[in-house]
Amino acid sequence: MTGLALAAALVFSSADAHLAYETARELSENHSPRDAGTLRCRLAAQYLYDRINANGPDAKIDKFTAAAPNGSKHFYNIESRYVSHPGNDWIVLMSHYDTKPGVPSQGANDGASTSGLLVALCGAVNAQRPDSINVLFLWTDGEESIVAYGPDDGFWGSRHAAQALKEEKLKISAAVCLDMLGDKNLNITITRNSAIRLKREFAAAARDIGLQDILKAGKDAVKDDHVAFAECGFDAIDLIDFEYGSAPGLNDYWHTPEDTIDKISENSLLKSGRIAMAFLDRANRKAKKRKEK
Ligand SMILES: [Zn+2]
Repeated sequence: MTGLALAAALVFSSADAHLAYETARELSENHSPRDAGTLRCRLAAQYLYDRINANGPDAKIDKFTAAAPNGSKHFYNIESRYVSHPGNDWIVLMSHYDTKPGVPSQGANDGASTSGLLVALCGAVNAQRPDSINVLFLWTDGEESIVAYGPDDGFWGSRHAAQALKEEKLKISAAVCLDMLGDKNLNITITRNSAIRLKREFAAAARDIGLQDILKAGKDAVKDDHVAFAECGFDAIDLIDFEYGSAPGLNDYWHTPEDTIDKISENSLLKSGRIAMAFLDRANRKAKKRKEK
């Protein structure tokens, strides 16, 4: 008899999905727009920090300053670490929480949905305590560009965090970016510029729980926070629903005032959360198996 047979699978419940939705709703309704470098963005970071702490271990706000096209700005990443054992490999789960500068929007799907999801995933992981993986939950600031993506525009939070984790020599086996995963009509794509090994693991994880139909291999490379981790040498993957619009195939709510909480559903957050959790569960089981050999 091995411990494997006795280990319960990690689950993401409907109560977790409710917490994800309520967090996304409050972020959308009370803290928007949340453009990087604004007071409202700082207040959004504080709100998330309090939410995380109410449902998991103490988070940390990492304030840093960086150059932007319209001058130097303060940014606020938030992170919370679940440690099963210091020697175990790390999985980074990330979501940006800022909104697109200059667009009067709640950023309900683009930013708030997955930030709420990450709060709930953090709470669920800490409650269920997987024994063979460590998980770093990261809410990034400044994902959105002000003018156009470039070395000094966009992805400030992920570049800052990836560099710091590389310097810390943290053993990261996967960096997973979750973006725009609350759409009522959920179609998740795995972007082309994701690590092949992780694409396979996510496809298998979705199959494990019967949700393979909502997860597709995307044809396009997408610039998102995972790129900063890939550039630092980590295996990285991006899950995004880039069909967020008024009709199937359109993305016309994205970066517009139409990106509001009424377009988001708790049921979609439940599905997205279950897929992320199934991925963590596979990683935990595989790591445990390796240790037992
Ligand atoms: Zn965006």
